[in-house]
Amino acid sequence: MTPASHTPADQPTGYDDLSPLAAIRARIDHAAKIAGRKGEDVTLVAISKTKPASAILPLIAEGQRVFGENRVQEAQDKWPALIEAYPDCKLHLVGQLQSNKAEAAVRLFDCIHSLDRPSLLTALAHAMDKVGRRVPLFVQVNIGEEEQKGGCAIADLPALLTQARAADLPVQGLMCVPPAGIEAAPFFALLGKLAADHGLSGLSMGMSEDFETAVMLGATHVRVGSALFGRREG
Ligand SMILES: *Cc1c(COP(=O)(O)O)cnc(C)c1O
Repeated sequence: MTPASHTPADQPTGYDDLSPLAAIRARIDHAAKIAGRKGEDVTLVAISKTKPASAILPLIAEGQRVFGENRVQEAQDKWPALIEAYPDCKLHLVGQLQSNKAEAAVRLFDCIHSLDRPSLLTALAHAMDKVGRRVPLFVQVNIGEEEQKGGCAIADLPALLTQARAADLPVQGLMCVPPAGIEAAPFFALLGKLAADHGLSGLSMGMSEDFETAVMLGATHVRVGSALFGRREG
């Protein structure tokens, strides 16, 4: 596994001949195989936030089709033209969503990873009815119980899922961003347990520094930015 001291763009040896995308895919496949899983069951969401179309196009040319953004406005500026040119691209929202942007998000995104509170749930249900489009959702869980962190409290998860089922929202699974700077594995394992407890099969977890650990612990979606695109400025 990648030691915590690695910078996000570092990678283990043995992948030097590959492009960044091919290396990430190979590392996902390897981690999946160790865990008795299939690499193809893990969706790589390429997080292209802050990156211009000129940085995204080479990945599309190499075959990547699933991308993630964390701001609705930025995605609205960047993606309509790309999707028109490459209609099979899928766009995921991985950032905090304000209720007043729910409709815009439902129109643009193919999956939303950041459902975290009852008011947003109500706004998304309303938006999906209005737009006539059911967008798969992940409930973001504040898995480290961090005060400043987004995501629903673990204690509030059952009620939020009950509300989602009552509103007939397509909840696919759970998502988390574990606390920075400490071992992520226990948090990934806990998210997996919570998902299993609630009969949910989707697990959106793992970023550039820890996606292999996440895959070994059952991630169905890994969200990788800097290891694919290089460091973000700012
Ligand atoms: C930016 C971001 C990522 C990608 O992070 P990297 O460390 O660059 O791979 C994943 N998930 C969320 C929610 C993000 O905001």
